[in-house]
Amino acid sequence: MLARRNLTLLGSIVAYGAVSAALFLFPGRELAVFPFYIAIFLWNDLRREEEAQVIFAFLVLAAAAVVLARASGDTARVAIACEAVGALLLCFAMTGHRNRFAHTRGNWLNKIDRLDAQIRDGDRELRFYNTYESSAVGQIRLRRDMVQAAKSLGTTMNAEEVQKRLLRIVEGRYAGAKAQILPGTPKDPMVDWSVRTHSPVLIKDMNLEDRFGPRSRDHAFRSALVVPIQVRHQAYGFLKLYGAQPNQFGSDDMRTVDLFATLASLTLENIQLYSEAHNLAAHDSLTQLVTQRVFRTRLKDEILRAGRSQTPLALIMSDIDHFKHYNDTYGHQAGDELLRTVARVLTKHTRPVDVVARYGGEEFTIILPNTLQETAADLAERIRAAVAAEPFVFQGQRTSVTMSFGVAAFPKDATSQTQLIRTADERLYASKRNGRNQVTG
Ligand code: GH3
Ligand code: MG
Ligand code: MG
Repeated sequence: MLARRNLTLLGSIVAYGAVSAALFLFPGRELAVFPFYIAIFLWNDLRREEEAQVIFAFLVLAAAAVVLARASGDTARVAIACEAVGALLLCFAMTGHRNRFAHTRGNWLNKIDRLDAQIRDGDRELRFYNTYESSAVGQIRLRRDMVQAAKSLGTTMNAEEVQKRLLRIVEGRYAGAKAQILPGTPKDPMVDWSVRTHSPVLIKDMNLEDRFGPRSRDHAFRSALVVPIQVRHQAYGFLKLYGAQPNQFGSDDMRTVDLFATLASLTLENIQLYSEAHNLAAHDSLTQLVTQRVFRTRLKDEILRAGRSQTPLALIMSDIDHFKHYNDTYGHQAGDELLRTVARVLTKHTRPVDVVARYGGEEFTIILPNTLQETAADLAERIRAAVAAEPFVFQGQRTSVTMSFGVAAFPKDATSQTQLIRTADERLYASKRNGRNQVTG
């Protein structure tokens, strides 16, 4: 670069020498030759060779002085002086213009720099908003899925349906992945660990996994997520999600699937609590037989069904004889034990379709669908004999107990629920009046 500059300078000096030689060789042609000095000067000026410019300004003025001294006539002198002054003025004008141009250019460059910086800031902001947007969209989608999952899982009271819906939700969210809910004892060490520690497990690549045993390439899937499902602090099972490709799930997915599993476990917990409360209300805690309330509902349903299907229905009412005396003799605890034994005998002699209920105190009823009165009376007789023959042993003491029975049938004896109960009850008290330990009906 520097060599090139020197060459230019050298070229200019040579040109200057040539012009000076031309002045001497062609006297009287100063007016035509002198402008070549100015051309050299302007050429350097255009090339922004500031040092050369100063040198040539000086040389042009020196040449002008020499030419003026040698000029032959005033007109030529004035013309050369004008040419020299014109060249200088042109030089000043160009320098001024160049400075203004440089100033404006500087301003523009500053503006361009500022705009560049603004564009870079804008780019950064845009990138941030893009990331923020995708995470916000992800959050909104997750919330929407959660709300839908909560609605879907919370609107069933069937545990199997909860499991099916949970699978549908998870597979819907992770297209291409397969989900399983496996109850019972896990065989897989990874699942076993997850269930035992109540912690979810994320496996990014099965081929590289060595936390649960030696590494192996023999896997049916590459990515996996295992989330334990707990119901009332007990291991209920686990949700396993797996995919064919490695790195199909991340830790965000593990948290999300864990949330879905938690929603499902809350519903399963509600189902269990509801079923327990329902059982408590429906069953007598001492004998585990259904209560009088359930008995009444079932009797109503069975009478309706018997009416529709034109089939008979029988009802047995029974009462333990002298139970007060038994309690007084052997104690209340022995009385309770007796009630439990009687309940067992009644259940043993009846079919699953029959409804055996504790009607109250030491009274029991049996609804016998599709049963004629005579058949029911025979059954009552068998139960009576079984109770009478049952050795009620309490604290090593052998005791004996008898029961009285009343049997009524629909539609033979009664056409309504109240009437049927009343008839069976009246017959039970007839048995009592007639000396107990017998069946009337
Ligand atoms: P009857 O032969 O006329 O039926 O005489 P009973 O003594 O069996 O009849 P009563 O109605 O006089 O007595 C019923 C007794 O049953 C009174 C009550 O203390 C007792 N009882 C009611 N419920 C329970 C219970 O849950 N456990 C025990 N141990 N006793 C009960
Ligand atoms: Mg009694
Ligand atoms: Mg009684």
